[in-house]
Amino acid sequence: MTELWVKNACVIDPIRGINGEIIDIAIRDGRIVESVSDRAEVIDAQRCLTLPGGIDSHTHVCGTKVNFGRYMSPEDMRAGRTRRHGKMHVTSGYYVPTTFGNSYRYSAMGYTTLLEGAMAPLEARHTHEEFTATPHQDMMANTLFDGNWAVMDAVREKNIKKAAAVVGWTLNAVKGYGIKLTNPGGTEAWGWGEDLTSIHEMVPHFEVTPAEIISTMIRANELLRLPHSVHLHCNNLGKPGNYQTTLDTFELVPDLNPHRQTLYATHVQFHAYGGGTWRNICSKAEEITRSINSKPQIVMDMGQIMFCRTMTMTADGPMEFNLHCLHHNKWSNHDVELETGSGIIPVTYSKKSAVNCIMWAIGLELALLTKNPWQCLLETDNPNGAPFVKYPEVIGLLMSKRYRDEECATLHADTEKRTSLCALEREMDWHDIAVMTRAGQAKALGIINQGKGHLGIGAEADIAIYPIRTDTVDPAREYRKVVEGFQKTRYTIKRGRVVSRHGEIVVDGANATFWANAKIPEDLRVDNDPEFIRRFQEFYTVRMSNYPVQDLYLPRGRRVDTEAFT
Ligand SMILES: [Zn+2]
Repeated sequence: MTELWVKNACVIDPIRGINGEIIDIAIRDGRIVESVSDRAEVIDAQRCLTLPGGIDSHTHVCGTKVNFGRYMSPEDMRAGRTRRHGKMHVTSGYYVPTTFGNSYRYSAMGYTTLLEGAMAPLEARHTHEEFTATPHQDMMANTLFDGNWAVMDAVREKNIKKAAAVVGWTLNAVKGYGIKLTNPGGTEAWGWGEDLTSIHEMVPHFEVTPAEIISTMIRANELLRLPHSVHLHCNNLGKPGNYQTTLDTFELVPDLNPHRQTLYATHVQFHAYGGGTWRNICSKAEEITRSINSKPQIVMDMGQIMFCRTMTMTADGPMEFNLHCLHHNKWSNHDVELETGSGIIPVTYSKKSAVNCIMWAIGLELALLTKNPWQCLLETDNPNGAPFVKYPEVIGLLMSKRYRDEECATLHADTEKRTSLCALEREMDWHDIAVMTRAGQAKALGIINQGKGHLGIGAEADIAIYPIRTDTVDPAREYRKVVEGFQKTRYTIKRGRVVSRHGEIVVDGANATFWANAKIPEDLRVDNDPEFIRRFQEFYTVRMSNYPVQDLYLPRGRRVDTEAFT
């Protein structure tokens, strides 16, 4: 039995309605309890800001495309090097660090749970190997279904139950957590040398549209009662004028679940552009947030970009080709048979580029114009918009108009003309930030009842204690203290153990991988369907019996059971 007692903690726990109370937290065997014995180890938080462990609901840290990013940037391996030191393994890399590098830096920032944004089912084994090698954060995999042939067949047949059965079988086979749609239908079209420019255009050879894929999958997701909603990267990412596609997509979303959103729209900054060319691109954040503010069934995340060099990586193959044509930089393109694809290219976001400055402003506008912080979560689509180590700067910008103004003064002059950022007065408070970095994520991912995102009795003891005294720091003026404070916790506690102290890693890890197991009625199971099996054997280059990920790939797997439709 191990016991820990955190005393004098200034707790903000939005899920439990606690906002800045001085509380003691008792922990036994990894969970929060009522009280501990006098033998418990004691940590005095000294009235510092104490939050549930951070949760990143959209990041790219594990799997094949992350490793392609590493192959493509040997120069990055020379950045961010740290030596082996105590319990810490060697790390390297800045925008695509090694697995240990990612985990340690998240730990130093107080993050304890991560959702990998995109896992191709066929390449799941590699993703799980890296999940297992990640020392400290609990992991989940968003599983790609945007170009899944069996799903598109079910969509064409207007058979929601069959689409749900395919998803349920696949998630169970590859130990995935939720449904990810990346440019639905578009990457498949790209595999045939074509591209889609609207959600009502047909995917070649399948006679379905992106709109039909999205609508069917939303309903299939709810039939399966999956903990998370459909997680969507909208069509037409990164194209001037794409905000209309985003608004059209939002109009498709019914309100089907009383406990959480029905659609999670990711990195919306990349989907909020007006204008028709790169010369007249402008912000449409006001239009996008007007829609979000009227639709509680949608949650989005920011997709903030920051000025730095980084690596873009996505299952959106055609988008990366467009980006390659723009930058003429090295490019990788990949097809995952019958399922999806991907593209990877390095980019540098520069203050000299009007387009980059406008993108930067749009991300902040989205957050500041969304009335309810539970509907706009903080992330950078790591590493696409910026590596996650930039989150503290994003927090500083959201909390301080002065910081934003100082930054704006250094940007391309067009930023002020083509965005409304400079006119926005709103400054987020500590509670808003707690929602946007953990509580909102826990709710959106459906993991509150797994003991995540809050500090109630029975919760997993994932806790971040930051060196910030909210009673003495004025974030609007002293934004540098805010940025510094969020860069390194005093203590990051993972399942009741201190894993990081003042940025130093002090223990080896033992993370867990969450995956969803939807129980499908016997008569609908696709592994009993001769036609599904025949097509699988005909088109895949792997045998159906070799497809499922064996249990040994998840030594610390945590199955989340759902009782699907009957
Ligand atoms: Zn992403």
